[in-house]
Amino acid sequence: MMDNLQQRIIELRQRIDKAARANGRTAEDITMLAVSKTVDVEIAEEAYNLGVRDFGENRVQEFKKKKAHIPDARWHMIGRMQTNKVKDVVGKAFLIHSMDRWNLAEELDKRGQYLQIEVPVLLQVNVSGEEQKAGVEVKDIENFLDSAGQLSSLRICGFMTMAPLSSNSEESRPVFKELFEIYSRLQKKEYSNVNLKYLSMGMTQDFEVAIEEGSNIVRIGRALFA
Ligand SMILES: *Cc1c(COP(=O)(O)O)cnc(C)c1O
Repeated sequence: MMDNLQQRIIELRQRIDKAARANGRTAEDITMLAVSKTVDVEIAEEAYNLGVRDFGENRVQEFKKKKAHIPDARWHMIGRMQTNKVKDVVGKAFLIHSMDRWNLAEELDKRGQYLQIEVPVLLQVNVSGEEQKAGVEVKDIENFLDSAGQLSSLRICGFMTMAPLSSNSEESRPVFKELFEIYSRLQKKEYSNVNLKYLSMGMTQDFEVAIEEGSNIVRIGRALFA
């Protein structure tokens, strides 16, 4: 007898694989990031024991707590960060997806220099340009990458975006398409401290569309832990 969580993991991997095959990839090419922000650490641990290796949290406090409990998983920070919380995350996160502004980049870099480590991050992009949304605007991406050379510990490894919330995943497609196009174009350019290899796009509502449009990290909460 399989429990429900195991069933959901298997089904999600199948859906990821199917979407990946639409553009010549397989589930192996896609990281399924389990967003455990709504569940207790015991449930996250159950997922870990079922083979899930990547977990995302959007609050520093929860990130710290769950990482301490399951230290062998790869813990990703995916939520808005205050600059005074940087020390709780640098050196502890496998990847910070929510690097959304220059002063945060500076603080992350400062902490990385102090610890003498590299700080892998994704630049969060506000593709749809909604005012209340975090992230740099599309027109500022290249400027940001140009300036990354000043931050010797920071490593910009790709982009993250959130599509507008909606009930129809097709509404996300143009957003994902646009960021993939920018990602592909800028991969061919040389910037210091930049190596674009991750594209973190897609959540429960739209992960299949995101994968079809080139995402290689999907952040899944509700479909896994509901
Ligand atoms: C909560 C969250 C997710 C997961 O959303 P679901 O709709 O539950 O899959 C993904 N990304 C970020 C940044 C989140 O905060």
